[in-house]
This record gives sequence, C-alpha cells and structure tokens, in this order.
Amino acid sequence: KSAGKATWRMYQAERDASREMVNRLTWNERIQQALENDGLVLYFQGIYEAATREVAHLEALVRMKDPNNPGQIIPPGHFIPHAEKSGKILDIDRWVIRKAISMLAEHPSMPSVAVNISGRSFDETSLPEYIRTQLEEAHVEPARLMVELTETAAVSDMRDAQRFIEALRNTGCTVCLDDFGAGFSSFAYLKHLKAHVLKIDGLFIRDLPRDHDSQIFVKGMASIARDMGKQTVAEFVEDEETLRMLVEFGVDMVQGYYLDKPSPDHPAIHGLMRSSHA
Ligand code: C2E
Ligand code: MG
Ligand code: MG
Ligand code: MG
Repeated sequence: KSAGKATWRMYQAERDASREMVNRLTWNERIQQALENDGLVLYFQGIYEAATREVAHLEALVRMKDPNNPGQIIPPGHFIPHAEKSGKILDIDRWVIRKAISMLAEHPSMPSVAVNISGRSFDETSLPEYIRTQLEEAHVEPARLMVELTETAAVSDMRDAQRFIEALRNTGCTVCLDDFGAGFSSFAYLKHLKAHVLKIDGLFIRDLPRDHDSQIFVKGMASIARDMGKQTVAEFVEDEETLRMLVEFGVDMVQGYYLDKPSPDHPAIHGLMRSSHA
C-alpha cells in the first residue's frame, strides 16, 4: 500500500514538473516573439521633485502586447518572473536600455530615464560596457540615464553587486537602489553598494499618514541618505497628505498614482515638466 502511494506521488510530481515546463516554454516563446516582433512597450511614470513637483526623471516600465488580445497589455509581474527563470530577462533588459536611449536621442527635452535592471544581470559583466556603447552611438549624455537595481536582488551576491555598481558608475550613469528597505540588512548594503539614489520601498509609503512605524523608518532613511550624500525617492505616493509628510521628512523625490500613472505617451517625453497637482 505504501509503495503504491510512493508511486502515485512520483507520478504526480513528474506531471507537475512537465506541466510547468510546458508553461515555461510557452512564456519563453511568447517573450522571444515579443523581442523579435516589436511586442514590448515602454510605459513611463514621472519621478518628481518633492518640493516643486517638477518632473526630475521618468521611470521606464516594460509591458508586453498580448498576442491573443489585440490592444491588451500584459503587466511585467506576469512575464518578468518567467524571463528571470529562463534567462530571457537579459534580452529584455537590453531591449529596454536600447529603447530608452533611442527615445532620449529622439527627444532632447525629455528628462533623464530610469531603467530597471534585474539582479540576474549582475554577473553580466558586459552590461555596463553595453550601456556605454549604446549611449555613445546614440550621442546621449550618460547623466540622462539612471539604472535602478532591486535591493533584494543585490543581496544574493554582494561582491558581484558591488563590482557591477562600480562599473555602472564609471559609465557616468546614475545608480539607484530600488525597493530600498524591503530586503534584509539594508544598512550593510548602504555601506558596500555605492548608489547615488535610494528608492524607499512602497511598503513604507502606502500607509504613511496612519502608520507611525513607517513614519519613523522613512524619516530615518531620509536623514541617513542625506548625511551620506545620497538622494531619496519615495514610491507609491497616492495622496496629498503622504506627499506633504515626505516633504517634511526631507525626502527629495516622489513617484506614485497621486502624481501620475505609467503611460506610453507621458507628457514629459515632450518636455512638459509639471504635475497636475503642482
Ligand atoms: P518597480 O520598479 O518597483 O516599479 C514600481 C511599480 O509600482 C510599477 O509597477 C508601477 O506601475 C507601480 N506603481 C507606481 N506607483 C504606484 C502607486 O502609487 N500605487 C501602486 N499600488 N503601485 C504603483 P509595474 O510597472 O507593474 O512593475 C512592477 C515591477 O516589475 C517593477 O517594480 C520592476 O521591478 C519590474 N519591472 C518593470 N519594468 C521592468 C524592466 O524593464 N526590466 C526589469 N528587469 N524589471 C522591470
Ligand atoms: Mg523601479
Ligand atoms: Mg520600486
Ligand atoms: Mg516596488
């Protein structure tokens, strides 16, 4: 009886594994097709100076056109995890870099663009060189490109991350630690990872006016960052009260649905730099 059970379990596990492989293959094919057939789109969300509410940067957020439903858009949460598993993320990250740089070249009054780089790219020692070449060929100032790295990814190999950030800094780009505070031992990162900007994770911002602990953390992070000569961004700013509190705490920049939602045709692409809440 127990042997029968074991056999059944093995069969079940094999079925699960093969089903997952089919799903993964499907996603890989979709991603490959998107890369080859203009199936990816960049949306942009403003990163605003907290005090003046003027656009300081635009964050590029990738989406996929749904091949089965024309006009429908697939959010990155659906395909990035598959792309990270298969390694296709390296191609997506390069596509995003190329696209962002070509838009910067095309729109001289566009503010600097922040691109997200997966932690999978940290051992891609050729990526900083790739960025440098793309910027040079397009005649775009490196200062117009910001690179966001997720802190949770950085922790997995501190030495790789350290080297990667150093190489990125040498290209003249701005380096931002994304989702800051969401991982573990954030203060060790601060010591070793020489980023210019810290983006405080939305977890601390979402409920700021009502969450006393979050207020203490955010105030503390803003003050430490300032003393270290780094700038801060708060993401997930959804109302005026939160925005005012962030100004009071000395957070430099803000981003969130209160200011704008990501869109493929953001007004700041064409040089319009004020938010409607200014
Ligand atoms: P992230 O870089 O932390 O981006 C912030 C996410 O929060 C975005 O979701 C954005 O649309 C959303 N968001 C912005 N403001 C608000 C707000 O006020 N409230 C709420 N609830 N959400 C807000 P999105 O575009 O779905 O991206 C999710 C994640 O996918 C990103 O998190 C980033 O880690 C990843 N991602 C996006 N684009 C790329 C890319 O080009 N390459 C890589 N490697 N990852 C990307
Ligand atoms: Mg980001
Ligand atoms: Mg973030
Ligand atoms: Mg986040």
